[in-house]
Amino acid sequence: MVRVRFAPSPTGALHVGGARTALFNWLFARNKKGVFILRIEDSDFQRSTKEAEKTIIEGLSWLGLNWDEGPYRQSERLDVYRKYAEKIVQEGKGYEENGALIFKVPLGETTFNDIVWGEIKIKNETLKDIVMIKSDGTPTYNFAVVIDDHDMGITHVIRGEDHIANTPKQILIYQALGWEVPKFAHLPMILGPDKSKLSKRHGATSVAEYKNMGFLPEAFFNYLALLGWSPGIDREIFSREELIELFSLERVIKRGAVFDIKKLEWMNAQYIKKTPAEKLYDLVLPFWKERGWITSEENIDKEYLIKVIELVKERCKTLVELANFSDYFLQKEPTYDKILVEQEIRGKEKLLSEVSEALEGVNPFSSVNIEDCLKNFAEIKGLKLKDIAQTVRIAISGKKVTPPLFEVMETLGKERVIERIKRWGIV
Ligand code: GLU
Repeated sequence: MVRVRFAPSPTGALHVGGARTALFNWLFARNKKGVFILRIEDSDFQRSTKEAEKTIIEGLSWLGLNWDEGPYRQSERLDVYRKYAEKIVQEGKGYEENGALIFKVPLGETTFNDIVWGEIKIKNETLKDIVMIKSDGTPTYNFAVVIDDHDMGITHVIRGEDHIANTPKQILIYQALGWEVPKFAHLPMILGPDKSKLSKRHGATSVAEYKNMGFLPEAFFNYLALLGWSPGIDREIFSREELIELFSLERVIKRGAVFDIKKLEWMNAQYIKKTPAEKLYDLVLPFWKERGWITSEENIDKEYLIKVIELVKERCKTLVELANFSDYFLQKEPTYDKILVEQEIRGKEKLLSEVSEALEGVNPFSSVNIEDCLKNFAEIKGLKLKDIAQTVRIAISGKKVTPPLFEVMETLGKERVIERIKRWGIV
């Protein structure tokens, strides 16, 4: 039975790289009908915080990466590490120095077959002896990870490329304890557009930031899955179930994976488009509230807001855009740009008054009827519909660009539309 783990150190946010590691472990476990374990590597008391643990767990939950066992915590297992370190010292494979317990690296060579990188071989003489337990009583990463992976029955260690150099040290400790060595797969680094390691200066790096920027968890999940892995099928959008079905470590791509925000945005737009408005409603609500456009849950006209989402979602890359692009549907008064008003509305006050009068007679206030009314009106006035439409658009939304005007008008409803047009008309 496959048993894998995600083993974050709770010293900061859940970063894109960590989330990708967690995701690949999760996909592998689900593909093999195995077990996915969460282990918090908090033995570095100086740097570990409960706060960080919480954000990591929130990030994993947001992505839907549920674990079958854990979270285990290294801080709860300190006596276990000491027991094994003492055993190694007693057997003459290690020694004590300044209160620390140290593993003596034996002579020879250490080889392992990485699922991604193939055979990796090093001469042991290039390694220094390995501290197992520091003089303050806490275990080192390289020691604790071996004890944990063994005790937790881990069959495959899937983690970042940055740990390759640690692996021979860990293998030597497995061997010293007479334990079976798990299989290893080191995932290629995630790079920024300039091909250097992804970092803050490339933009957002934590999962929480992407959530706040309005990415859907399903889209982020899909995007991360293709970051350094390819199913060998010429398409980009895959459901969770498809990814579980298709995932294999053999198809992990060796070269570094470039994090491409444009592609992520494109993917997010696809997911927003195909997500039902009812579901988007719950996701966009916090963004509306944040902007103060919804202040109490009580007077919400959910039916209206769902229609708004329906209309606006077609062109949105993120939930932030969805919230922002729907401002004039939610605000009592749209925000009008002075210059735009000068250019497009000044001088057309009389026209707007007449339009509002014409619209009074439209029943029911449907996009088809609205269109008929405005076409008629334009014809009578000897004007082009296009010119009237743009003035009306700006009068009711404050914007030059909106979804199809007649649909916007229908959704806003007769009362709002007429009130807003009249506002600019001659009273
Ligand atoms: N705590 C280590 C890290 O966050 C875990 C590495 C591993 O998976 O062995 O990098």
